[in-house]
Amino acid sequence: MAIVVQKYGGTSVGTIDKIKNVAKRVAKRKEQGDNVVVVVSAMGKTTDILLGMAEDISANPDRRELDMLMSTGEQVSISLLSIALKELGCDSISLTGVQAGILTKGFHTKARITDIEIENVKKYISEDRVVVVAGFQGVDEEGNITTLGRGGSDTTAVALAAKLGAVCEIYTDVDGIYTVDPRLFSTARKLDEISYEEMVEMASLGSGVMETRSIEIAQRFNVPIYVALSTEEWPGTYIKEFDELMETKVITGLSVCDDDIMITINHVPYTVNNISMIFQKLALNDINIDMISQTAPSHGYINISFTAPQSDKFLIDRVLEDVKNKLKGIEVDVEEDITKLSVVGIGMKSQSGVAAKMFKIFADNNIEFKQVTTSEIRISYTINTDDKEKAVVAVAKEFNL
Ligand code: ASP
Ligand code: MG
Repeated sequence: MAIVVQKYGGTSVGTIDKIKNVAKRVAKRKEQGDNVVVVVSAMGKTTDILLGMAEDISANPDRRELDMLMSTGEQVSISLLSIALKELGCDSISLTGVQAGILTKGFHTKARITDIEIENVKKYISEDRVVVVAGFQGVDEEGNITTLGRGGSDTTAVALAAKLGAVCEIYTDVDGIYTVDPRLFSTARKLDEISYEEMVEMASLGSGVMETRSIEIAQRFNVPIYVALSTEEWPGTYIKEFDELMETKVITGLSVCDDDIMITINHVPYTVNNISMIFQKLALNDINIDMISQTAPSHGYINISFTAPQSDKFLIDRVLEDVKNKLKGIEVDVEEDITKLSVVGIGMKSQSGVAAKMFKIFADNNIEFKQVTTSEIRISYTINTDDKEKAVVAVAKEFNL
């Protein structure tokens, strides 16, 4: 019997009725002859609510305790789902991250999976039970509960699938991966399939459907992923290795991300050590820097801009205070209303002219951009959020998305 790992996100288990519905789907799949491992997120907005409680007590809650707190969300949904499955006559067992053998390392609230001791899960599968695993959590070497970073249940699901040699199905509240977010461009098309490489870019650029790290793991271990609706049986999107038969357009998708802020540090005395010091401090706080731009030195000074997740603003502020103390005379400017717009496509590897086309679109539509970065299969621009809608429509039309 094949093993399938199914993941249901927070919205899909947001109410008791929804949990019952998920149980029905899982039980049906089991009856059809597959072994099912289910990974679930916390119900609805539970994780945010838990975080809010901690923040009502402390502006800077201890991260180990945050992990302890947040992990309870998933514990509620695994137990309820397992109860619902048993009610349908489908034998099941719920497992926390620790019980499922999910070993992690690194920072609390941002831990990484290092390995999975899969024997426990395998044993229950061999007993013909549905195994319901708490997403987003694991255990570190000292036995502390850890969490994997927001959206981390996707990573749990893909890592389990990799370890079990299973396919991974992600059930959510959107019916697949679109060329552009349909809320921003109503005629966007749903993709039947997309390569890991493109999906990593789309995910990390804020397409929001799946967590980036999970796609990287899928790519590394060649785990086929299927993303589809949790409520309806209609076709979703396959994420898999690129093959020659895949439809290649120059641009596969346009990704729009409002979750970053742009920090500019002006009047930095130009030495390699100063620049290195700034980025070292950011790295030590595990702040994920994205776009970086720097002006050429003028009279011994430079200006540096970079973007980073809004969610790290608190940490960034702390680092910047520290930097200000070290480098007297610098000025720091934080812009929150920026949007990152990126075009992604494997076709770019062999076709030139995409950047030129983009610049023309911006010029024709009077859109000012602040930063540009490129990789082999993507070009990203930072623009003012005010220009977002105009830019999305213009780009999507130009590339027939
Ligand atoms: N419940 C966690 C979160 O809200 C993990 C997840 O949903 O994947 O981030
Ligand atoms: Mg998610």
